[in-house]
Amino acid sequence: MSEKTMFKAYAALKAGEQLQAWQYEPAPLGHDEIEIRITHNGLCHSDIHMRDNYWGVSSFPLVPGHEVVGKVTQIGAHVSSLKVGDRVGFGWIRNACRECDHCLQGEENICRTGYAGLIVGHHGGFADKLRAPADFAYKIPDALDSASAAPLLCAGITVYSPLRTYIKHPGTKVGVIGIGGLGHLAVKFAKAMGAEVTAFSTSASKEAEAKSFGAHHFQTWEKADDMKKVMGTQELIINTAPSELEWETAFNILGNNGTLCLVGVPATTITLPVMSLIFGQKTLAGSAVGGRRFMREMLEFAALHNITPMVETMPLSQINEAMDKLLANKARYRIVLTSE
Ligand code: NAP
Ligand code: ZN
Ligand code: ZN
Repeated sequence: MSEKTMFKAYAALKAGEQLQAWQYEPAPLGHDEIEIRITHNGLCHSDIHMRDNYWGVSSFPLVPGHEVVGKVTQIGAHVSSLKVGDRVGFGWIRNACRECDHCLQGEENICRTGYAGLIVGHHGGFADKLRAPADFAYKIPDALDSASAAPLLCAGITVYSPLRTYIKHPGTKVGVIGIGGLGHLAVKFAKAMGAEVTAFSTSASKEAEAKSFGAHHFQTWEKADDMKKVMGTQELIINTAPSELEWETAFNILGNNGTLCLVGVPATTITLPVMSLIFGQKTLAGSAVGGRRFMREMLEFAALHNITPMVETMPLSQINEAMDKLLANKARYRIVLTSE
């Protein structure tokens, strides 16, 4: 009898628990799937939200990891777009209906029937191998090394998508709140798209780096009275903070007709400053990762404009230390976990 295939992973066995070495038997490789040997994983704040079941959608044992890069080791019988040895990545989305109007426009992130997440009901990238549909794997451009490419697959696409949607002209004044994994890439992409970028940060120590990423201005996040000079200035704000914010202040930093786009997930409900919203004709928007159309475009754009995250690498076996470091706001600016 042949031996069972087992994938070695790091899993949280219960909500809020540290990850531990764990193994599971993968489902047989589907005809439309590939198997990859994982070499790199970006660590996203959503992996921590999922570990802690912050959104109530986690199932345990939970194997996080959704900024995954590796090499193809097997292809299903019907796969013709990839071959063994190709370097590919997977992001937050594992699969979608492929038939609804949104999917047909490459907006699988808002699939009518709901997409399948890489780590929602499935085991993700903190493992030696992964099996998933071949056409949700992205070929990594040669210009991007694997450690740089991994964070683009969630952090990168999540900020590229709203910047691409809402920046309408060169010189658009774009504010980025929270200079972490998503935020520092937002600064880089916004700069490359021709925006005038202001970084808003609770960490004064990030000023020099934020400017090196392309921010024209840096503003520490203070009480509203101490931020008078930036009130009414921004046309678009991308909020990446994973925590509660002074929403009134955020809206007041927007100019009239401005858009505040939430990508960070601070809580499931927020209180809106209605007067600022109505009388400034402002828009509150939300954005979730991005579909295949923008993902491919973003990877090409990043390769063309040399947009790469600032990463620090740690071995996957140090995943718990890495999560603690990210939670303490000490990651600069994306931790990438490497596997042998
Ligand atoms: P991150 O690397 O931890 O960056 C978040 C940044 O927010 C920090 O660097 C910090 O920047 C600021 N911050 C303010 N208050 C904080 C607090 N209480 N704890 C930690 N940081 C705080 O996180 P990330 O990976 O960029 O993810 C950010 C958020 O986006 C998370 O909520 C994540 O779940 C969400 N997300 C959403 C999507 C989507 O599709 N919408 C996709 C990926 C991630 P300063 O020091 O500059 O203040
Ligand atoms: Zn993510
Ligand atoms: Zn669909």
